[in-house]
Amino acid sequence: MSKQRTVYCGLVNDELVGQTITLKGWVQKRRDLGGVIFVDVRDREGFCQVVFNAENLSAEEMEMADKLRSEYVVEVTGVLNERDGAQTNPKIPTGRFELFAESLTVLAKSKTPPIYIEDDLDADEEVRLRNRVLDLRRPKMFNNFKLRHQVTRSIRNYLDNLEFIDVETPYLTKSTPEGARDYLVPTRREAGKFYALPQSPQLFKQLLMGAGFDRYYQIVRCFRDEDLRGDRQPEFTQVDLETSFLSQSEIQAITEEMLKEVVKATKGIDIVEAFPTMTYAQAINEYGVDKPDIRFEMKLVDFTDFAPESEFGVFKSAVSNGGQVKAINLKGQADAYTRKTADALIDVVKPYGAKGLAWMKVTSEGFNGPIAKFFADDNSSNVISERLNAEEGDILFFVADKADVVAASLGELRVNLAKQHQLFDPNALAFVWITDWPMFEYDEEEGRYVAMHHMFTAPQNANPEEVKANPAEALAQAYDIVLNGYEIGGGSIRINNLDMQEQIFDLVGFTKEQAEEQFGFLLNALEYGFPPHGGLALGLDRLVMLLAQEPNIREVIAFPKTGRGIDLLSNAPGYVENAQLSELHLNIRSQKD
Ligand code: ASP
Repeated sequence: MSKQRTVYCGLVNDELVGQTITLKGWVQKRRDLGGVIFVDVRDREGFCQVVFNAENLSAEEMEMADKLRSEYVVEVTGVLNERDGAQTNPKIPTGRFELFAESLTVLAKSKTPPIYIEDDLDADEEVRLRNRVLDLRRPKMFNNFKLRHQVTRSIRNYLDNLEFIDVETPYLTKSTPEGARDYLVPTRREAGKFYALPQSPQLFKQLLMGAGFDRYYQIVRCFRDEDLRGDRQPEFTQVDLETSFLSQSEIQAITEEMLKEVVKATKGIDIVEAFPTMTYAQAINEYGVDKPDIRFEMKLVDFTDFAPESEFGVFKSAVSNGGQVKAINLKGQADAYTRKTADALIDVVKPYGAKGLAWMKVTSEGFNGPIAKFFADDNSSNVISERLNAEEGDILFFVADKADVVAASLGELRVNLAKQHQLFDPNALAFVWITDWPMFEYDEEEGRYVAMHHMFTAPQNANPEEVKANPAEALAQAYDIVLNGYEIGGGSIRINNLDMQEQIFDLVGFTKEQAEEQFGFLLNALEYGFPPHGGLALGLDRLVMLLAQEPNIREVIAFPKTGRGIDLLSNAPGYVENAQLSELHLNIRSQKD
């Protein structure tokens, strides 16, 4: 007869010493020390050592204990004992205890597992994903999901206190242009028609404001068919909110307080200062990216004005072609680089379009390196040293190119070098708001303006004619929240009048008919007293990844997909039967090639 579990293995404690208790869990390790068998039993909370001794057990049970292997599931009852000082294991919290087994039941046997169930496992990720059930048994993984749960719980509590209500929005929606690629869902009822899985609940949450719900939130799955990276998955989770009648700063304040609550609930850290705010222009100018990592300095310094008077042809021609010259100073690391290794850093910036990366070391005799001869005169050396605060032992990196190439290249190099030389505290949580975003960016390929946030974002200028006259200069009432160099969320004040919304559609190239066809339901709703509203969405996976100090979001998603979008566990996506296809009125040109 199975007994009830008294406590998790990882939670045995002083109060239970001397008592008869029952544990249930997995065999981590078994050691036979001449007649006495020691077994570490593991469950989601940790380990407890169990001692099997012939004095307390039948011969049959001793034989069973002898046959225990890794990952067998057992039920053990016995008396909890405090171990002698000399024998305690200080590495685990329950290392001071052991259970003297008085009965043993094997609840399930296990084959030899293909991966070790331990935290510093260095198995290939594909092997881990294929064996995800075993992988998730590792204590570190369970802790990630406990953390994720604490995050969503504190968010729900916080929003609940502020009268936000959780409303579900559809997953089967309509495909809309712009943004990322949609996942399409065919339907047998309507030949040739498709639903799309939502990239976000954006329009629905706005409609809920039109409906007078006032404060909405949802912790919701979103789907985007994009190229995947470490911090992207085809399906991911947003903490999505929308409010009526609040200003940008009020929405930012609610979000900021929520994030502070999350940090307090999960890390016990009280962030008292307000999160810093930076304009988009300042972020690009000083950090090269719109999601600056402000845990360290090494800002980009502009030499565009100085380049024409320098002796260096590469700088001069970049500027005469309308480009820029900027630099960063990696302090005190000159000795870490040989000519070869400094030159090799070109590989970091090449993917961002840079054709060259110039560098100089600062020595007691002045600049040193391939381009140093161009900057040997007093004026050059003063200008460079002063602006970059260059001192002996520093190494300076320059990029001369089009403005966006300079920004992206040095922005990436800055982060890359900081990681390599550990220029920041890995435990730091550096939040920063990015505001004053451009409304539009020009898409060279399509030859038109596209919305930088989305087409429902309100411009700072309330006059649609003025926005249309100069779209390149128009700023949005939009805000992003960045943590340690990752965009963890963003939102905006939305357009709530028909005229402005129609003008913005027109500006990004929709005809009246197209706008009506795609967004008629929104345009229609805007005609019936639509309140001023705005909101934001946080990327839950990224936030948890950063709090857990994991390198990618797959570590905080129970069943993630690979970089190629494949679920290795179930082998999705997969082929379907021809009968299913024909029911959906689909014909696949080449099914199995
Ligand atoms: N729906 C937007 C997004 O997914 C966020 C927002 O504007 O609230 O990026």
